[in-house]
Amino acid sequence: MLEDEPLNGFTGFARKGKAQFQYSRAAEQAAQEARTEFGEEFLSSIPATDRRWAWVEISLDAIRHNTIQAKQRLRAGVRLMAVVKADAYGHGAVECAKTALSSGADNVGVATVDEAVQLRDAGVTVPILVLSEPPEEAVPLLLAKRITPTVFSPEFALAYGELADLHGMKAPFHLAVNTGMNRIGVRAEDVIEFERQVNFHRALVHEGTFTHFATADSGDTIDFNMQVRRFVDALGALQAAGIDPGIVHAANSAALFRFPDVHFNMARLGIALYGYHPCEQTRGAVDLRPAMAVKARITAAKTVPMSEGVSYGLHYRSPGSVKICTVPIGYADGLNRALSGQVDFILNGQYMRQVGTICMDQCMFEVDLRSFGTRERLDPQVGDVVTIVGRDGNAETTITDMARFLRTIDYEVACNFSLRLPRVFV
Ligand SMILES: *Cc1c(COP(=O)(O)O)cnc(C)c1O
Repeated sequence: MLEDEPLNGFTGFARKGKAQFQYSRAAEQAAQEARTEFGEEFLSSIPATDRRWAWVEISLDAIRHNTIQAKQRLRAGVRLMAVVKADAYGHGAVECAKTALSSGADNVGVATVDEAVQLRDAGVTVPILVLSEPPEEAVPLLLAKRITPTVFSPEFALAYGELADLHGMKAPFHLAVNTGMNRIGVRAEDVIEFERQVNFHRALVHEGTFTHFATADSGDTIDFNMQVRRFVDALGALQAAGIDPGIVHAANSAALFRFPDVHFNMARLGIALYGYHPCEQTRGAVDLRPAMAVKARITAAKTVPMSEGVSYGLHYRSPGSVKICTVPIGYADGLNRALSGQVDFILNGQYMRQVGTICMDQCMFEVDLRSFGTRERLDPQVGDVVTIVGRDGNAETTITDMARFLRTIDYEVACNFSLRLPRVFV
């Protein structure tokens, strides 16, 4: 770089062989003037999809449809909880919660106190259950925001009850019962002992009792039935001791659609709310619509001479007769690097092979420029919309296919697309 020749304020000059750069005062002043001239409001009004050509589209119609499918399976009076943890499995917690609630869901479940606070602050007024026991230090937040915790340790329960009492409040909780998953909860045979330790407390209100299944999505039902039996026994023990278990719930999506016997007073709908099947057994048995699509616009489109490589490692070589197109989405956006060269994107309703290593923020795909069969010659342009996940015409790529290839579950693939992509609700 030439000495003292600033480029947008960057002055490069060599000193003792080391390049040094500094941002000049004049340039900072000019940027300040630009901010004033454009206005901060205008600057922040530039849509996210114009700041970066990659985004997630969420169909709230699909969320509504899936909620209704679930609600229809429940007897009258059985409640439906919309599980919107992890930002609604990557779909946007506030919007999904509100849509589910206006379509038949009765309340919401989350994983963390922060997720509950986000919903309260966004105007969600229904009961919010945190599906695990939070740290004691978070109790003031629970009380101030009317967030219901899961409880399974007497220490937490008493700390919660104490603080509530101090402020003349009640401390409602749902008791988690460990019936075999061994994640959280009071062991089924110990629920009475647990109650003895806490139920003298006047502020504590035993509002619900639940368990969680480890194998509701499995073809084999032996372990599932064992969990059900232990849960029913624990409920019986509570009742025999004169303790009202309150709202009883156990079913996740898989159990909701497969086992009506375990609906009890409420079912907790997670993955199916977003349109994905929890297991093979529900496929064909219930009509779910995937709510998420991932899209991007082409940022570069160029012919690459035959045998030249593309992307890190140059693992892909151009066969000639192709255009290599770049889209600004990569593994930092949830497009798993292990999918490199293994997935198709969709352009104009036609499958295009993703080629080369998926980078952190970008990746490439190949457009065959030859015309063959009935296909017209394609001519991809910068700005054209590409479907990474979703349907375009008769072509469709799914989160389920990606999950299968990655040897994981739809849950994880969907969650990961929330890492950095802006969300558009359609
Ligand atoms: C996540 C979760 C659910 C929802 O499960 P899905 O399989 O997504 O329906 C229900 N209950 C608990 C306790 C959970 O942690």
